[in-house]
Amino acid sequence: MITIVGSLNMDLLVDAPHLPQPGETVHGRNFRRSPGGKGANQACAVARMDMPCAMLGAVGDDAFGEALLSGLREDGVDVTAVRRTSETSTGVAMITVDAFGQNHIVVAAGANALVSPQDIERHASLLRASKAVIVQLEIPLAAVEAALRQAKQGRALTVLNPAPCAELNDELLRLCDWIIPNEIEAGQLAGVTVRSVDDAALAARRLRESSGGARLAVTLGAAGVWIEAAEFFGHVPGFAVRAVDTVAAGDTFIGAFVTRLVEGADPRDAARFACAAAAISVTRPGAQASVPRRSEVDAWLRER
Ligand code: ADP
Repeated sequence: MITIVGSLNMDLLVDAPHLPQPGETVHGRNFRRSPGGKGANQACAVARMDMPCAMLGAVGDDAFGEALLSGLREDGVDVTAVRRTSETSTGVAMITVDAFGQNHIVVAAGANALVSPQDIERHASLLRASKAVIVQLEIPLAAVEAALRQAKQGRALTVLNPAPCAELNDELLRLCDWIIPNEIEAGQLAGVTVRSVDDAALAARRLRESSGGARLAVTLGAAGVWIEAAEFFGHVPGFAVRAVDTVAAGDTFIGAFVTRLVEGADPRDAARFACAAAAISVTRPGAQASVPRRSEVDAWLRER
């Protein structure tokens, strides 16, 4: 069982000819809603890799919350540790996309902001019994830290996806077995600008030191990933595909990568598998809608 502690959002999207100026009304079209939130996306990815998966978080007592939970349930995610609160709404992301694919995004964290250390304590036995616990930074830092501490009390592999970017102290990093940032997050955490694979390697080395030996996977978009681990360090290239939408590429990578690690794969093989899963996801639109199933990833890799 892998447990994801993190956010669930409903993404609300509209296409517009251009992004509105302050005070301007633009006539858009093609309204759609799509399940998202980094936590829920990663839970979806783990479940579609055929690994038992539980989600810990919070949604509002409203229609979006219900839709998010039923979507995850359909994928086989255990959502009994997702609290439903009437204090506030389910998290939403309001996204306007212009004719060039540029976007405006406003996120209202809603129930995600209410996930507390008490929620973590309530599910301590779940976290301690998990083979891996994955956290991101779309819920309060106090809850993130509490989750990592509980996971450490058991034998869970602790995985931090430090997204979106935030200042983190070394103490938090020391609770992590794996840290999986993208190149921007890695650069910010390590205090270097990451523009190349060499920069990513430098950032990874620094973070490995400041975290007291955590392993690193720095994702590099189309270029793949840099792995800094005891067993292997080096560049694992991405797969060349025609990208249409990179939303949730990182979340797909993380779900697939941690699944393979828990199954005992070495980091290099896990990274190749995860790059394949993420490459498939970028060929399709949407967040959870774009995440492939394991059988599809296996078949896709057999052709390469
Ligand atoms: P994030 O979405 O968190 O910013 P990245 O952009 O680094 O993360 O993407 C995560 C992973 O998704 C990469 O390591 C790579 O395997 C895959 N990926 C992302 N963009 C592409 C692309 N254009 N072509 C192929 N693979 C991609």
